Order: sequence, then structure tokens, then C-alpha cells
Amino acid sequence: MKTFNADTMTITPRVWIGCLFCYGDGELVGRWYDAVDAGNVRPHHLHGVPCSDEHEEMWVMDHENLPIRGEIDPYHASLWGQAVEAIDPQWRAAYLAWIENQWIQDPQDAPNQQQFNELFAGEFESFRDYAEMIAGDIDLLYGAPDAAVTYFDWESYARDLEADYTVIDTPDYDVWVFHNH
Ligand SMILES: [Zn+2]
Repeated sequence: MKTFNADTMTITPRVWIGCLFCYGDGELVGRWYDAVDAGNVRPHHLHGVPCSDEHEEMWVMDHENLPIRGEIDPYHASLWGQAVEAIDPQWRAAYLAWIENQWIQDPQDAPNQQQFNELFAGEFESFRDYAEMIAGDIDLLYGAPDAAVTYFDWESYARDLEADYTVIDTPDYDVWVFHNH
């Protein structure tokens, strides 16, 4: 399994919250916040001055490191922010990839850290690497004759094992491995 340096870049969900009324008026009034803070943003934070009721409706018009496509309201953005930030920083990228892979739409349905630990097997150079590690753990070839070990069909073994897993490519050409259960 791969390990990471302590200086691994931390993934923090961020949102750009804007005023819908100003947007409709052709003006972009808003700014970036950590997603966890999205629920606490008030119109006067965006405008810098107290403003009339017309400017009350706010919307997340852009975001990064949230496992969703398109726009979202600030409240749900803050729930997603909490879900992601509850995860060990070094596995947040895997967490985001898994949520998108599973089409989880509601932050309430997203796994917490403990649930994620149970389904996430780790990051490996390939699924074959993972399969070989599992074979070692269970002494798959214990007592087998040398020739059987030499000619063991690892590709076939890995292919059958893979049916029990979800495998997602990482941006660095490795794979994240998740249990299907
Ligand atoms: Zn406004």
C-alpha cells in the first residue's frame, strides 16, 4: 500500500457564494468561503454593507473539492463540507472519488470516517498489487510446490478477486480500492 508524506496537500472543500439578486442584475457579488462555513454566511458579508431584503437569496455558484456537479445551496454545501472535512486529510481525494462513483447525492448518505475505513482498502499501483498482498495475507500459496508458485496465474486470480471490489483510477495513475459491501 502507498503511504504519504506529512506535507500531503490538504483538500479543503471551498465554495463561492454569490447574491442571486445582484447576479440577476448582471453583477457578480460574492466571495470564496470554506464550505463548512457556508451556512453562516449572511448577505451583508457578501456586500460589505447592510442590504435590503432583495439581496437575501444566496447561492453557491462555484465550488472546489465538493463531490457534486453544478450549483448547490449554501446549506447543503456546508453539510458536504462537514462530511469531507471529517475524513482523514490524506484520504479525502479517495473519499470524493468514491462518492462521485457511487452517485451519492445527499450528504446525509455519505459515509463517515468509520464507515469509510471499512470500505476503503487503500491506494495501490494496480489492483494486481492489491491482489498479491491479499494472497500473502491469507497464505494463498502456502505449501504449494515451487512450480505452482512460479506459474500461478496472477492475472486470472486478480480478475476474479476484482469482482468483489470497486477500483477507481487516481490522478497519479495508481488505483484506489474499495470493498463492495
Ligand atoms: Zn446583492
